[in-house]
Amino acid sequence: MKKKIYLASPHMSKEGYEKQFIEEAFQTNWLSTVGENINQLEIEMKQYMNINAAVALSSGTAAIHLGLKALNVGKGDIVFVSDLTFVASVNPIIYLNAIPVLIDSEPDTWNMSPIALQKAFKKYQPKAVILVHLYGQVGNLEEIMKICKQHQVPVLEDAAESLGTTYRGKLTGTFGELGALSFNGNKIITTTSGGMLISHHTEMLEKVRFWSTQAKDPAPYYEHSQIGYNYRMSNVLAGIGRGQLKVLEERIRQKRKIFEIYQKAFEDLPEIEMLTESKEVQSNYWLSVMTIKKEARVKPLEVVNALEKENIEARLVWKPMHLQPLMKPYAFFQHNDATEKSVSEDLFTRGVCLPSDTKNTEEDMERIIQIIKTCFNK
Ligand SMILES: *Cc1c(COP(=O)(O)O)cnc(C)c1O
Repeated sequence: MKKKIYLASPHMSKEGYEKQFIEEAFQTNWLSTVGENINQLEIEMKQYMNINAAVALSSGTAAIHLGLKALNVGKGDIVFVSDLTFVASVNPIIYLNAIPVLIDSEPDTWNMSPIALQKAFKKYQPKAVILVHLYGQVGNLEEIMKICKQHQVPVLEDAAESLGTTYRGKLTGTFGELGALSFNGNKIITTTSGGMLISHHTEMLEKVRFWSTQAKDPAPYYEHSQIGYNYRMSNVLAGIGRGQLKVLEERIRQKRKIFEIYQKAFEDLPEIEMLTESKEVQSNYWLSVMTIKKEARVKPLEVVNALEKENIEARLVWKPMHLQPLMKPYAFFQHNDATEKSVSEDLFTRGVCLPSDTKNTEEDMERIIQIIKTCFNK
């Protein structure tokens, strides 16, 4: 069997920082959801993000859930959310008995279409907007923020895939009222499982911290006046996060390099188009993603299967939320005319997520590229 190549797998520092921080947790016996690693990870992330407040949580999904709650989203409220995303962007809306309204992508950046967003605002007044930065790219952020501000609606950025990506020199996750990060195993840095909520609003995140540890009221016994959650990050996993944060910039360089290699390799293949950062954006290129031109004979699944046969992991693009059986009851606003295929569906039908593992060697990249070229008879 040929060597396995992954889409995006955990990549610990060669210096072994993560193990050192874990070792500290063991030596001090802080083996729960309190301790130095958690405190420091929050401080270090605040410094990196240049933001006032951060709360380490058990997942990115938990961060979105408590973020929406901090924005007072509750039963029957409308929340606008990007249609082309992972289901974890939308599920927390449903946890709160609120109602998702799905917003199409724009063709160039694959991210939330300001046109579709305007259409949705004509019909609904939402309590919040969840803006996803898909695959580490950013859409027309300025326009989106302007529209939301006009309607006085807070934005929660789902920056799970875009840690380290900047828009006009500012890091994603710091534009909205709140930013949700994920440290799941496939993300650019990982705590194996984990997430974080960041914000300029300190008091808002103090509430989140309180809810994340079962909402224990200050009393000499267990007193509860609000519903709480067991959503805090473990001090052991926070140690992994501290080590990973030290190599984030290196990982971004590696991801950008992977993109460049694909970009160059497919230059002379007119059927393939790479998703590329717009001029305002410096992307983390969490995943290198391509589309196959409509007219081409080759379909995305053929590329994925050809790679799979050679023990290489590639994936189709996220299946849009409006096409999910779970999301059937919810409204969807298209970028284009509703009689046509939506932009998100078009990207889904033509897109492939390419292996973007930062552990890939040059030979690995060459192997992947050759297989893809062969699909196109090149
Ligand atoms: C990974 C991801 C999440 C969820 O993060 P978890 O830490 O896995 O809960 C949310 N939104 C997007 C867009 C993601 O890719």
